[in-house]
Amino acid sequence: MKAMVLRKVGERLACEARPIPRPGNGELLIRVEACAVCRTDLHIMDGELPDVRVPIVPGHEVVGIVDAAGPGVSSSLIGARVGVGWLGRACGHCSYCAGGQENLCDEPTFTGYTRDGGFATHMLADAAFAFPLEGFSDAIATAPLMCAGLIGWRSLQIAGPAHRIGLYGFGAAAHIIAQICRWQGRDVYAFTRSGDAPAQALARSLGACWVGSSGEMPPEPLDAAIIFAPVGPLIPIALKAVRKGGRVVCGGIHMSDIPQFPYRLLWQERQIVSVANLTRQDGIDFLAIAPQAGIRTTTRTYPLEQANEALDDLRSGRLQGAAVLVP
Ligand SMILES: [Zn+2]
Ligand SMILES: [Zn+2]
Repeated sequence: MKAMVLRKVGERLACEARPIPRPGNGELLIRVEACAVCRTDLHIMDGELPDVRVPIVPGHEVVGIVDAAGPGVSSSLIGARVGVGWLGRACGHCSYCAGGQENLCDEPTFTGYTRDGGFATHMLADAAFAFPLEGFSDAIATAPLMCAGLIGWRSLQIAGPAHRIGLYGFGAAAHIIAQICRWQGRDVYAFTRSGDAPAQALARSLGACWVGSSGEMPPEPLDAAIIFAPVGPLIPIALKAVRKGGRVVCGGIHMSDIPQFPYRLLWQERQIVSVANLTRQDGIDFLAIAPQAGIRTTTRTYPLEQANEALDDLRSGRLQGAAVLVP
């Protein structure tokens, strides 16, 4: 098999030939059809997340076909299309897992961070944390749903029943969640980098009722805002844009520092809340809704060997929608 490997934090990925691994207890061997590229992959490569286990194969938005099943897994799964996301495994016995918050598990495993992910032709995954994807016939279009979609969905759930919703950073996650919001009858306010005409055009085409740069104030106060861009200074800006009692949801795993801001921006029961990881129930709920909502992802494909170019394009903001690696 072939894999794009992070050998050392701060380096570019290296292409390696490796033996195809054998699935262990409860595991699947997956032949990767497509793996989308997420900003979290950049945070891992740049050492912005703690304790990166190198060498590691990044990639946690995987769609593939089950090639083999390990002991304890039904062989009926062989040949099925499955998806693998960020939550590689949760322990099942800590207080968070027991309380229905496996996204906050004390001993989690994360795909492409603490276990090898999908920037490869093959990978292993815990069968209990892989999502069945029958009915999703287009692997490339489906791959971005596995993190941009899922984390975006969880962020939207945490934003609550907001009618006027602001999306800061109009990349892979926002372009999916905007479609869900429109399908649910919400009004979407899209905030992009100043002068990012392609992102603004994409937001308009997906039904945003207002599009502007992130420094602008929306024409009316928002009920909630979700920040997908990893930019701490957006927090006070978004607090200014939401109404009394409004909520600002931080959808990313890493953000630059939040600048000091006056308490009056938070006062009047505004809230700031972060989103961490996902539960399997989030995945089940979202993957049931995505086809009903008619989600269409905008993707740009790259051969697996060009993972570094895809990551460069994501970093520079040259990308519209999601980058997807295709082995
Ligand atoms: Zn991700
Ligand atoms: Zn746990």
